[in-house]
Amino acid sequence: MPAPALKITVLGSGTSVGVPTIGCHCAVCTSADPRDSRLRPSVLIGYEGRNVLIDTTPDFRTQALRARIERLDAVLFTHAHADHLMGLDDVRPFNFRQKDRIPIYASAHTMEAVRRCFPYIFDCQERKTNVPQLEPRLIDGPFEVFGLKFVPVPILHGKQTIHGFRFGAAAYLTDHSEIPERSMELLRSLDVIFLDALRYKPHPTHSTVERSVKTAETLGARRAFFTHICHDLGHERAESLLPPHIRLAYDGLEVEVGAS
Ligand SMILES: [Zn+2]
Ligand SMILES: [Zn+2]
Ligand SMILES: [Zn+2]
Repeated sequence: MPAPALKITVLGSGTSVGVPTIGCHCAVCTSADPRDSRLRPSVLIGYEGRNVLIDTTPDFRTQALRARIERLDAVLFTHAHADHLMGLDDVRPFNFRQKDRIPIYASAHTMEAVRRCFPYIFDCQERKTNVPQLEPRLIDGPFEVFGLKFVPVPILHGKQTIHGFRFGAAAYLTDHSEIPERSMELLRSLDVIFLDALRYKPHPTHSTVERSVKTAETLGARRAFFTHICHDLGHERAESLLPPHIRLAYDGLEVEVGAS
């Protein structure tokens, strides 16, 4: 087998409020299993000495310190909900270190929301050290980032269409309640797929364990990891009920994948 070309690091596997959840004393929120502590959802993709981040969560600073991230070459946004966006200001140390702008990729709709949330980043004309230095790039079909092709995968998050991404033999599909048929076609022959699996009970804008098991089996991906998990799921117990090729992601999990 050729050497794995991509390393995916799970920076956060939790739902929008994180686990433990503020004020909650349930078995999962008080669990001693480190895999039951889940920061907000994000992954880092490492290849050829580059680091590409999907989403800047409110926990980004903590996640970057914990994963010892030393460079950041690009950021991709799935959508502009707070749990995927609000850590954007914390990319500044990478601007200082790299002395360069960082490209950020998003759909026109998402980019508009990013600009609305962080007007000071985009309003300022001259380079200021107290403001992130970014280069917005709109997504409109597949695009390349440092030689790796990313395919945006439209998914329904309630009524909103947002993006998952396919890259190499992997795909990352966070927040979704439904995957349109045309998007399923973009997800064939995967080695690894990450899927939203909030909880067991149905939710209007998120997938469930049952639904994501079905998606994984329909696609025939070799391995699937669930993410965006809330405190209804204890890691050990939830995994014991799943087939061996479907696992729960956890913060700090590293997965190696082929580049095609
Ligand atoms: Zn979310
Ligand atoms: Zn709880
Ligand atoms: Zn969302």
